Amino acid sequence: MIYKPTSVREAVALRTEHPEDTVYLAGGTDDLRLGSCAAGKDLIDINGLVDSTIDVKDGKLHIGALATLQDVVESPLVPAFIKEAAKFCSSFEKRNAATVGGNLALRRDDSYLAAAMCAAEATLLLYTSEGETERPVAEFLKCTCTPIIEAVVLDADRTGWVKRFGNTAASHAALIAAQSGGVYALTVHGSGLAVGDSPAICETLDYKDDLTGGADYKKYLAKIVFEQGR
Ligand SMILES: Cc1cc2nc3c(=O)[nH]c(=O)nc-3n(C[C@H](O)[C@H](O)[C@H](O)COP(=O)(O)OP(=O)(O)OC[C@H]3O[C@@H](n4cnc5c(N)ncnc54)[C@H](O)[C@@H]3O)c2cc1C
Repeated sequence: MIYKPTSVREAVALRTEHPEDTVYLAGGTDDLRLGSCAAGKDLIDINGLVDSTIDVKDGKLHIGALATLQDVVESPLVPAFIKEAAKFCSSFEKRNAATVGGNLALRRDDSYLAAAMCAAEATLLLYTSEGETERPVAEFLKCTCTPIIEAVVLDADRTGWVKRFGNTAASHAALIAAQSGGVYALTVHGSGLAVGDSPAICETLDYKDDLTGGADYKKYLAKIVFEQGR
């Protein structure tokens, strides 16, 4: 079943009422694929309820959660390293449907955007059952809460870099690292997210052997990526 709420508030209320049986529907690239964690669940369509525009207000870049990864790539306002992270989604068709909010909400350890957004010290405008609030992306990624992401906010003039390691452009990333303004962020497949103010964050993760590579290989990449930088 697909719910068609008429407001963000109604959408959050539905999700809160049926926490185990519903997910939000944004671009649908994950929800509508075979074997998705949305399988067997009802969909709460948030298209039309959440912003999809990208603009700058008072020096802050606002990326509406329904902006697609391709919108991010094409926007002249988005910092280069955030665009580069969006391009880690190598398929144009998927980039053109996949949304920024959906990508962060999935909390994947091979997320295209997570490391770059954490290094950029981006925050999320969230709509919860208690109303609107703002939280750092890094904090959101470590919790299990299910608010609606309305927008991502970061400094419009932020600079930095992001680097991805994976067997192919289309396979799961073994590791994505980013650095911006002295903030370091790493997502490692099988190990999760580390964020901090020094490259030593690589020592805080528990590396696992999996289809993306051996634990020692990923640990080595995590150690050298910040030394090598760009
Ligand atoms: C073959 C394939 C490979 C993929 N590989 C990767 C990969 O390597 N890395 C990666 O990061 N992703 C990958 N994805 C997942 C997905 O395509 C992207 O993460 C995409 O950005 C999700 O956005 P969406 O709008 O399509 O989300 P949807 O499929 O619409 O929703 C996904 C989830 O996000 C939640 N959600 C969506 N929007 C919001 C919102 N605004 N607020 C709160 N919750 C929300 C929903 O509840 C749902 O559970 C892959 C998908 C496929 C099919």
